[in-house]
Amino acid sequence: MTPPRYNRILLKLSGEVLMGPSGLSIDPTVTARVAQEIADIKAKGYEICIVVGGGNIFRGMAGAARGMDRATGDYMGMLATVMNALAVQNALEQIGVDTRVQSAIPMASVCEPFIRRRAERHLEKGRVVIFAAGVGSPYFTTDSGAALRAAEMKCDALFKGTSVDGVYNADPKTHPDAVRYETVTYSRVLSDDLKVMDASAIALCRDNNIPIVVFNIREPGNLAAVLAGDGVSTIVQN
Ligand code: UDP
Repeated sequence: MTPPRYNRILLKLSGEVLMGPSGLSIDPTVTARVAQEIADIKAKGYEICIVVGGGNIFRGMAGAARGMDRATGDYMGMLATVMNALAVQNALEQIGVDTRVQSAIPMASVCEPFIRRRAERHLEKGRVVIFAAGVGSPYFTTDSGAALRAAEMKCDALFKGTSVDGVYNADPKTHPDAVRYETVTYSRVLSDDLKVMDASAIALCRDNNIPIVVFNIREPGNLAAVLAGDGVSTIVQN
């Protein structure tokens, strides 16, 4: 079967993707490697939007578990995503990839605010657009932000870069006989509570018919291979 050709993609990078053996929240070597993967697909002509998480630095839920007000913790988490976005922008620009960061929480001296039409223009000009601060509201995650921006920017697919190579019918760490799905439906992900993204993000992708491609971004060359249809991944679709 010929793989679908995705021209415009949204790449969701969890904050932990930027961590490395150094123990730093943002490991420069790891970040540079991720940037190179992105530059490689950029050179192939794809239009790329990126949403970065912040879990390597702070999560509101973790703050709440230690007695912090949840919304305050969530705002801290959103600020963490802005730091990650700047780190990814820096790594991309160091290898000659033009980027713009747009934040859902306006912070005029740091980056642009999210303006959909302006983001569209950046893509037309060949820039990579990095969306920070999720949806800009507490009680959400950057997975929901990724699904929302993928819909708004009319992306052909949402690529979820993780440290596993797809979606399994059970946790492969505790069930060695777990089987990876090649494809799986949105409704199966929701009904079986498969750990892909949170339920609101899955539902938003389902309602807008945006396939979610789950793949291991730590595997060198895998992003380009998955885009070409011959890497290892799971596609969540109808
Ligand atoms: N967050 C939020 N609203 C959003 C996006 C993120 O409140 O729209 C907060 C939330 O506390 C979250 C943290 O920012 O835990 C970091 O984002 P996330 O956990 O999605 O990062 P990831 O797991 O992808 O690294």
